[in-house]
Amino acid sequence: MTEHRTVLIAGSGPAGLTAAVYTGRAQLAPVVIEGEPSSTSDQPGGQLMLTTDVENFPGFPEGIMGPELMTALRAQAARFGAELVTAKVSRFDLGSTPFGVWIGDPGAAEPTYTTEALIVATGAQALMLGVPGEDRMLGYGVSTCATCDGFFFRSREIAVVGGGDSALEEAIFLTRFASKVTLIHRRDQLRASRIMQERAKANPTIEFRWNAQVTEVLGDDKVNGVRLVDTVTGAESELALDGLFVAIGHEPNTSLLAGQLELEDNGYLRTFEGSRTSVEGVFACGDVQDHVYRQAVTAAGSGCMAAIDAERWLEARGS
Ligand code: NAP
Repeated sequence: MTEHRTVLIAGSGPAGLTAAVYTGRAQLAPVVIEGEPSSTSDQPGGQLMLTTDVENFPGFPEGIMGPELMTALRAQAARFGAELVTAKVSRFDLGSTPFGVWIGDPGAAEPTYTTEALIVATGAQALMLGVPGEDRMLGYGVSTCATCDGFFFRSREIAVVGGGDSALEEAIFLTRFASKVTLIHRRDQLRASRIMQERAKANPTIEFRWNAQVTEVLGDDKVNGVRLVDTVTGAESELALDGLFVAIGHEPNTSLLAGQLELEDNGYLRTFEGSRTSVEGVFACGDVQDHVYRQAVTAAGSGCMAAIDAERWLEARGS
């Protein structure tokens, strides 16, 4: 049986749950399809479930653990009447209103939900190396966010993997804290823009490890090194370090929306005038449409914007 809703929110990171708090308080009884537990960011709570201390979310002078923050935000959304459904969306039909949203069999004739307004907050996920030890050490020395975790590596030796602008930006940022940053790149030429290359090369705290691929993250309960293979000679080596930042790119979770909503050239959802997308009645917030800031607080802010935009749009149509 298809259930009809006024507002459906796909995603339950800070953007989706903030949109739920706002639309809940606006008496729109939102349903949040929060994702399913997994080791990637499409799990309930999003990428913050993969971090430990969050010290830069306003209002927590002593910091807060990422999962704890998401539990609080979830409870806040529920308090205002949001229904949280632990499931993954398998298909969207944005061809006509009300929009169709499927959970489970995407080939089912009838959608699980129809909704007047849809808020897309499906987030993005950092691309990972996929080597042994990496997943287990996420939050224990392996990180994908220098802004979030750099502070924990004061006077430590760390490495950044990648050769693009993100990797160099992270490496330069991390020199504020770390005593040494090794940039590990699988080739001997960087992909990053010339200006970033010049900055990184001029920074005395950054050392380059060329033609090197990480094959394993080492350590028991926290990172103490990586195993490397030389991509030219095949020689293996180990590098001792306290932290590893993986910066090989991010991927927005848009696979179910491509072809239905306009995307930017880099695959992120295109938004106009706040949170509006190319389809009227569909709003987007958080990392699925933000490749620039990618912070919990900016995601939450854009979730608020999407909720207000959706509310005003519904009101204007008389829904
Ligand atoms: P990117 O440009 O795609 O670079 C990814 C880097 O990671 C490449 O050097 C790639 O190596 C490496 N890599 C990919 N998969 C790997 C793997 N499995 N193992 C080891 N290395 C791997 O991604 P990005 O740096 O995130 O940048 C994305 C976009 O955002 C770019 O257009 C970039 O210019 C832009 N950006 C701009 C700024 C800025 O202007 N300040 C900052 C950040 C990002 P190869 O080079 O060998 O392929």
